[in-house]
Amino acid sequence: MSDRPSPTAAEPEEPASPTAVRVLVLNSGSSSVKYQLLDMRDGTRLAVGLVERIGEGTSLLRHTTRTTGETRERADTFADHDAALKAMAEELAVDGVGLDSPELAAIGHRVVHGGRTFTEPTVIDAEVLAEIERLIPVAPLHNPANLTGIRTAMLLRPDLPQVAIFDTAFHTTMPEAAARYAIDVATADEHRIRRYGFHGTSHAYVSRTTADLLGKAPEEVNVIVLHLGNGASASAVRGGRCVDTSMGLTPLEGLVMGTRSGDVDPAVIFHLERVGDMSTDEIDTLLNKKSGLIGLCGDNDMREITRRIEEGDEQARLAFDIYIHRLKKYIGAYYAVLGRVDAVAFTAGVGENAAPVREAAIRGLEELGLAVDGELNAVRGGEPRLISPPYARVAVAVVPTDEELEIATQTYALVGKGGA
Ligand code: AMP
Repeated sequence: MSDRPSPTAAEPEEPASPTAVRVLVLNSGSSSVKYQLLDMRDGTRLAVGLVERIGEGTSLLRHTTRTTGETRERADTFADHDAALKAMAEELAVDGVGLDSPELAAIGHRVVHGGRTFTEPTVIDAEVLAEIERLIPVAPLHNPANLTGIRTAMLLRPDLPQVAIFDTAFHTTMPEAAARYAIDVATADEHRIRRYGFHGTSHAYVSRTTADLLGKAPEEVNVIVLHLGNGASASAVRGGRCVDTSMGLTPLEGLVMGTRSGDVDPAVIFHLERVGDMSTDEIDTLLNKKSGLIGLCGDNDMREITRRIEEGDEQARLAFDIYIHRLKKYIGAYYAVLGRVDAVAFTAGVGENAAPVREAAIRGLEELGLAVDGELNAVRGGEPRLISPPYARVAVAVVPTDEELEIATQTYALVGKGGA
């Protein structure tokens, strides 16, 4: 299979001016837009907001001015992304940080699927838009919504560099041996079936921050990153480059997640079709929305699951055990893939907050040089921190992820060369 040559990292037509120090980050879903405005001199959030239920009757905009902590809410009828982004622009203008400000250097867009084409942050032009559109068959839920957000933002500020940051980009360094499924090559190539991986922005940020925490350059360390949110994925990062990750063609593969099964024997699907009389769409919904923790015990929130376990709930216990068993298997697998591991880093909602998950995932791996210190593990906080005892050969870390900062940083690095 060969996608066309990469059009990545095109130079913006006009470099940002020295005063252009802000980046607006947009994450556009089918009926929502999340946004953050950052000052790239120190990463300060100037504003953080969300528009929900776009095109669904009553929409809600929630805008927080981070410098004052003030939150404003606005219920309105935003018929489409255009209306939603205009409302966002109005709120930013109220704060004196409007889209027409010369201080705005660029808009950075989260784009879920960049296929094999996009390996780096990319300034968006007509050709790039067409390529993101061409990738819709492999990301039917996400890329159309991302495109809508980009097109709308381009109308609002046609003169401003708009940059696409792809969830898949960090994983494009995976060797073919990790990226290919063992299925007929011609069929795989015809349908672009391979392992792309997701959450790449988070894996990039967390692996780099873990190296920082160890006082080393990313090139010097091998890290296993465990991004455990409602969606969950693991990655093996060698010297700053991803060499394997647990999500595949879609985010369904890999770890047990909040509502996704992760790995199953693909024959489960044929079995459900033939014996269970279920349609393809029904099985899709079953595996993506009704499986994982919620399918196993009726809850997908790890707080609730650990609470139920404390009360002696056997179903919650089993769900937890299955979750941990899968996690351990991936830690072991990526240890073997990397050969030498310097750190295991936990991140996202579960990884950052659920001490029992971290403890259970690492327990029993002492022969691999891995251990968790009970007291350090119990500490809560928003900063990257080590939770392994000083004697452990391999560091275990909690590293809060910050995908918006990473998107803004990558965007600014590409367009902000004239900036601060
Ligand atoms: P994310 O997708 O990264 O926002 O993670 C969301 C998930 O994180 C929730 O579904 C919970 O399972 C988990 N989570 C959030 N806060 C906590 C907490 N304090 N303790 C345990 N799990 C948490």
